[in-house]
Amino acid sequence: MANTDLFINIIENMAKAVIENKEYLTDLDRAIGDGDHGINMSKGFQAVLSKLDDMRDKDLGTILKNVAMTLISTVGGASGPLYGTAFLRAATAVDGKMDIDKTDILNIFEKAIEGVQTRGKAQVGEKTILDSLVPAYEALKKSYEKEEGNLEAFRAAEEAALKGVEYTKTIVAKKGRASYLGERSIGHQDPGATSTYIMIKSIKNILEENHK
Ligand code: ADP
Ligand code: MG
Repeated sequence: MANTDLFINIIENMAKAVIENKEYLTDLDRAIGDGDHGINMSKGFQAVLSKLDDMRDKDLGTILKNVAMTLISTVGGASGPLYGTAFLRAATAVDGKMDIDKTDILNIFEKAIEGVQTRGKAQVGEKTILDSLVPAYEALKKSYEKEEGNLEAFRAAEEAALKGVEYTKTIVAKKGRASYLGERSIGHQDPGATSTYIMIKSIKNILEENHK
């Protein structure tokens, strides 16, 4: 893909999707956490929206770094630093670039995963953001290896992320507030894995719109 206009479009749509799902994410967090995930995330992405105009015409690394700094300074809770670090690391994958290819996209995801892991010390299977982010990345990679285009790749990533979200219902939370519940966290869907899924789905939606 992508020119910076499309990239800005993606960030804008991602922010709107998170904001639209404020209540949903908060309800999920109320069941196994403290009921603020949607509030935290929508506050952060409202701030991102308000800074979007300043980000236009910047290189992709700068855009992602701006998103990261905005999230770090506005999102409370565990998810602020986690998503902030993810975007900050992702920025290093496209430093100075105005266009990106499939390798860059995979690098963005690899760095984002690295960021979440460095910050939160979690592994897949511990009922966190990683349970949708990692399968989404793996699906992207597999799709690109089959020479599929971005839309197909992100459709596969969305599907994998959703499966990851479903999977979080079956496992015990090992990190964050939900871990205090131990076995009682089983049966509940992880809010952070869900917000990641919503973000990935929003990317696919923009690619779909652009495809028409
Ligand atoms: P808090 O738990 O501080 O209230 P949020 O409610 O905003 O923060 O975010 C909770 C989400 O953060 C969880 O659903 C989980 O997905 C994610 N999370 C918590 N701890 C970790 C961690 N160590 N690594 C990855 N994700 C985590
Ligand atoms: Mg919370």
